[in-house]
Amino acid sequence: MDTLPSEEIKSRLDIVDVISGYIKLQRAGGSFKTVCPFHNENSPSFFVSPDKQIFNCFGCGKGGDMFSFVMEMEGIEFVDALRILAKQAGVELKRVDPKIQTERTTLQEICVDAARYFFKNLYSDAGKNALKYLEKRGLTKETIEEFKIGYSFESWDGLYNFLTLKGYKPEMIEKAGLLVVSNKSGKKKYFDRFRDRIMFPISDANGYIVGFTGRYLTKKENEGKYVNSPQTPVFDKSKILYGLEKAKVNIKKEGYALLVEGQMDVISCWQDGIKNAVASSGTALTQSQTKLLKRYSSNLKIAFDMDDAGDMATKRGIDVASGEGLNVSIVRIPDGKDPADFVFSHKGELKEILEKSMPIMEYYFETALAKHDPKDLDGKKKISEELLLNIKKIQNKVEMYHWLDRLAQILNTDVKYLEEDMASMKSDAYAKYTQPNIQIQETKTLKSNDGVFTSLMAFLIKDSSKLAVLEDSDFMDFLEENKKVSYGLINENLLSLFDFLRKCAKIGQISEILKKADETQKSLLNPVILQSEMIDDSIDIDFQINFCCKKIKEDILRLKRKNLHFKIKEAEEKGDAEATDKYLKELKQI
Ligand SMILES: [Zn+2]
Repeated sequence: MDTLPSEEIKSRLDIVDVISGYIKLQRAGGSFKTVCPFHNENSPSFFVSPDKQIFNCFGCGKGGDMFSFVMEMEGIEFVDALRILAKQAGVELKRVDPKIQTERTTLQEICVDAARYFFKNLYSDAGKNALKYLEKRGLTKETIEEFKIGYSFESWDGLYNFLTLKGYKPEMIEKAGLLVVSNKSGKKKYFDRFRDRIMFPISDANGYIVGFTGRYLTKKENEGKYVNSPQTPVFDKSKILYGLEKAKVNIKKEGYALLVEGQMDVISCWQDGIKNAVASSGTALTQSQTKLLKRYSSNLKIAFDMDDAGDMATKRGIDVASGEGLNVSIVRIPDGKDPADFVFSHKGELKEILEKSMPIMEYYFETALAKHDPKDLDGKKKISEELLLNIKKIQNKVEMYHWLDRLAQILNTDVKYLEEDMASMKSDAYAKYTQPNIQIQETKTLKSNDGVFTSLMAFLIKDSSKLAVLEDSDFMDFLEENKKVSYGLINENLLSLFDFLRKCAKIGQISEILKKADETQKSLLNPVILQSEMIDDSIDIDFQINFCCKKIKEDILRLKRKNLHFKIKEAEEKGDAEATDKYLKELKQI
């Protein structure tokens, strides 16, 4: 009676039938195989296991259960896949599953109680410095209360004791992201995740507190200035915007949302009367966040710091938000300040500046002209390259010519030459390097070889004797020599997981790998282990390992070549014959 609808569906449907509804499967021993529908290939590396009811591609690394398959295949969200498969299975979906509901409620209650605890700490003796800091940043008592800002003691078990005394189980508090667990000498021990930090509770769009950001009060070795709650069943950083629950009404009223960098910006703006600001704390703006904003307004103003990092974040934000169809404009805060600092020293003046936000293209012009001199030849080339790329993206021809005209005036050249340059940009590989990162993955940034590399590790875990063989092969040397390039293709954490795997194997304990892994490693390892469990006897492991290594090697070499081509082009443009020669030689050696 109490099973989840997804479990009920899984018990009624067979993954082989579900997938066969989309693509043709061939039997291969105990499992089924076919050419992968998610990447280009000639020989099948896409496997479906009826026993485990999962699918897996050893070529691109995609895998999961029937829900993940339908989601991937149809490009839809889980709930929608649930609906499709519920229909096939004849399962009626109830509105909210009571089991999920109770866990969610408990986790939210834990967060609310924690927020109360942190808030109370702020007014205790030990919280004095934290309170002083907030006052120094200009926040009033009312604002602190409005945003429920608090303080976490410099203690390992302050929150732990408070919440367990209230009757919450440590496992649930950990699940809410507030405790960290250590497993030293086989005994579970819990610690407070946030210590000696100013605590900003984060609410979802409905106003439930679901997570926290902690800013350190005193600088600490090996700890970031900001620490966020980890991903939990109620907190998904990529889908939450700080301040939205308060700002949403005002976003509608003002007709636009103001996107700022951090919590302090949102709060300071609020105190200064600007109540439509939100922050994408600690992440680049995601598509989910943009979709959320779009519910309230289709206009977005971005006000980030004007340093290099802020400039990059701004440009990425522009790409994501315009990609979702928002009208984006840029706010330039005077003196290179962030909104929090600005309103602190110029009370009530931000509103006027917000009204003078500039169109995206204006912003691109301004940043390009600030970087390069439009009077010398080199500067002219750089400016036109940067701007033409963005002008090219404009759909409306009248608008496009408006900016081309303006660029021609600045560079003292003719529009028709710019047009020619712009037209040739499509085929020019150089464009790829200067184009800002347009596609941003929602929750994690996948790099192109993450899948293959994950598969490689899965094969090595399945048959650890192959790791010894690999250790002696030139692949290891190759990877070591090209470490820097490989970061462009493979997630750094995966690469370090690989080193960890090798270390375990060296002391003959590859089977112990899960026990020895820390939390980050475990979260990366789980999919690898799942993949390795899927490898059955019909798969030629030697062949597959070879395939993976070859693919990684080829891609690294390709990227190396690309980088050199780029450097050569740059050196040529500068007229640096010596460098050109040097890079050409390097290119020949590859
Ligand atoms: Zn694939």
